[in-house]
Amino acid sequence: MPATLVVEEGRFSEIRAGNDASPVPDLHDFGDAVLLPGLVDSHVHINEPGRTEWEGFWTATRAAAAGGVTTLVDMPLNCVPETVNVEALEAKRTAAQGKTLVDWAAWGGIVRGNVESLGALVNAGVPGFKCFLIHSGIDGFAWVDESDLRAALSELRGTGLPLLAHAELCGPVNVATARLNASHVDWRAYATYLASRPDEAETEAIALLIRLAEEFEAPIHIVHLSSAKALPLLADARKRGVPITVETCTQYLHFCAEEIPDGATESKCAPPIRDRANCEALWKALGEGVIDFVVTDHSPCPPAMKRREEGRWDLAWGGIASLGLALPVLWSGMSQRGLPLEKIAEWMAAGPARLAGLEGMKGALVPGADADFVVFDPDSKWKVAPEDLHFRHKISPYIGAELRGRVIETWLRGELVFRDGEFVGEPRGRELVHP
Ligand SMILES: [Zn+2]
Repeated sequence: MPATLVVEEGRFSEIRAGNDASPVPDLHDFGDAVLLPGLVDSHVHINEPGRTEWEGFWTATRAAAAGGVTTLVDMPLNCVPETVNVEALEAKRTAAQGKTLVDWAAWGGIVRGNVESLGALVNAGVPGFKCFLIHSGIDGFAWVDESDLRAALSELRGTGLPLLAHAELCGPVNVATARLNASHVDWRAYATYLASRPDEAETEAIALLIRLAEEFEAPIHIVHLSSAKALPLLADARKRGVPITVETCTQYLHFCAEEIPDGATESKCAPPIRDRANCEALWKALGEGVIDFVVTDHSPCPPAMKRREEGRWDLAWGGIASLGLALPVLWSGMSQRGLPLEKIAEWMAAGPARLAGLEGMKGALVPGADADFVVFDPDSKWKVAPEDLHFRHKISPYIGAELRGRVIETWLRGELVFRDGEFVGEPRGRELVHP
């Protein structure tokens, strides 16, 4: 559909449908390209300060801009210090100065023993909090149990801010891992890793979180859902009006366990990528609105930590680097399944914006919103090469993937930041502080 986006002072002032010939100063004609709202990725590990050798604001926000993502929300772990108190948040703000090509916000963290710090983080402007129900892989970010969750939910009562949870319980993982180790399995085999993170770890955690969301009437959000076995629980809870939301990630929609080579630890993430039938069930749930939206969980590390030469899934760092690829990855899967491009606006922009308290400001082509938009060619076909990756370390399971759709330009608050593979202008990204 032809349209004209009118921008004044960095915001959309008007969206005109149809071929509107009335004069607009400084008119840009994007021809037949598709205009999408600037994407919002509410699940990214930027790792700065403290682990800038893994990733950082400069490289992460460049990767974002190249992929049409105009807002990143940073996870509170993998940086040092972890974002579990206001001092750590201030250190992050200082580290980000002058380095961000797109806008960003920071989730706060809930760890064992920091309940007294939550109120100050709310006042300092975090849009919500993330916690783990299992070891996070980072010793400085301690996982929480039900009693910690109850204390945190009591503390946050009345704020309306969401609690984001990594929903795997350690019980089923520990049992499965002990059983595998007792039978001397091959840890290079992907099947071994998959068996070590069973569906029950997710379904049991999600059952607990649904119970707490219902009891506390508190918004709880399940991050990176992998197991389709949890979908009936979630659909049922939502039918009852429980304030629970859920995201999945591009890797769970694009890859399947059957196709992951043994030793290919660049595909390691937790929860794991499951089988093809599971992948199709996630697509179905996304189409039906049981899954709210799609993010990357971009979680890179230095190459050595993937321990590719040993290829042992139990020893490699768990995290997939993919920032900048989500739009063509999702669109490739959608076009194979006959899903309309318009859904991108909800699944990759409005949905995550809502979670981060940015509804009406980010991720939408509506008057009053920041004039963030993407010029997208939905038909271009290309193959991912390391040169296409703008994050710090060029390792990703998507290298070699044949994708459909390419970002031509990215605009942030009415200004061009990326065009045809090149970055434009000085870093103009801002922190979005929750009011
Ligand atoms: Zn994550």
